[in-house]
Amino acid sequence: MFDAYFNMTSSTLNALFKSNLSFSICRTIFSRNKFSAAHFKPRKVIKKVPKHHKIPLFEPEEVTLASKVSVKPKQLFDYFLVLDIEATCDSPTNVDPPEIIEFPVLKVNAETFETESVFHSYVRPVVNPELTNFCTELTGIIQGMVDDEPEFKEVYQNFLQWLEKEHILKPGVKFAFATCSDPDLNYFFPLQCRVSGIEVPAYMKEWICVKRSFCDIWPYTWPDNISKMLEYCELKPQGCLHSGIDDATNIARVIKDLAERGLVFKINGFKDTDF
Ligand SMILES: [Mg+2]
Repeated sequence: MFDAYFNMTSSTLNALFKSNLSFSICRTIFSRNKFSAAHFKPRKVIKKVPKHHKIPLFEPEEVTLASKVSVKPKQLFDYFLVLDIEATCDSPTNVDPPEIIEFPVLKVNAETFETESVFHSYVRPVVNPELTNFCTELTGIIQGMVDDEPEFKEVYQNFLQWLEKEHILKPGVKFAFATCSDPDLNYFFPLQCRVSGIEVPAYMKEWICVKRSFCDIWPYTWPDNISKMLEYCELKPQGCLHSGIDDATNIARVIKDLAERGLVFKINGFKDTDF
C-alpha cells in the first residue's frame, strides 16, 4: 500500500521542484488541509536502518540470503500477529485522510509458523466513502466490498474480541505485531484511530518491521517491497499484490523463511508519530 503512495508523492514533489517551486512553497501547498503534515512522516520513517549495520545493502548486485539451518532457533515470542493494512488512496493527489478499508491480521505460531487464526474485515470509509478508480485498481477492492461493512470503530472492537478469543492478551503470552514496513502501524493505523476517536493500544506502538529484519541476516539487505522480499527468499507470490489478506499471507511466508535461515525476530519498529 505505502510503496505505491510513496511513489506517487515523490513524483508529485518532483514535478513541483522541476517547475522551480521551493520546498517551502510545496509545504505551503500541502499544508492546506489538516492531515497533510502527517503525510510527510512515512518518508522519514522508511529510511531508518539499524545503527549496528554500517553498510546496508540497498542495491545489491545479487542477493543470496544465508542458507537454511537444520534447526530453527527459538523465537522471542509465542505469536507473530502479521498485519497488512489497505487504505483509501488516489493519484496524483491522495485522499485526505487515508482511511482503512481492509484490516487483516494473521495469528502465526512462532514455533510452528502455522497460521492458527485469521482476523479479516473490510471496512467502510466514512470521511471519503467513495473509493477512487485508482484505489480499486491498486487494491482490487471495489465499492461493493466496503459499502455494507462496518466502519472502523466497530471493526476495531471486533478485532479486540478476536484478540481475547485467541488468548493473545493473557498474561504471560508473548506476541509481536509484524508488518512489511513501518507505515502500517506508524501512520495508517494511528491516523485511523484519530479519525475514529480510538486510543492506540501500547502493544501496537512497537512492531517487527520485516523489511528492517532483512538487515539482521546475511547479506544485510533492504528489500523495497513484498515482491522483493519474496524474491530474496525464493518464494513465489501468492494471491494479489496490495490485497491486504494476500499481502499478510505472503509476509507470514517470508517470516517463516527467514526463521528457517536462522533469524530471531526482534522488535525493530517504534511509533514516533504524534497521533
Ligand atoms: Mg498491502
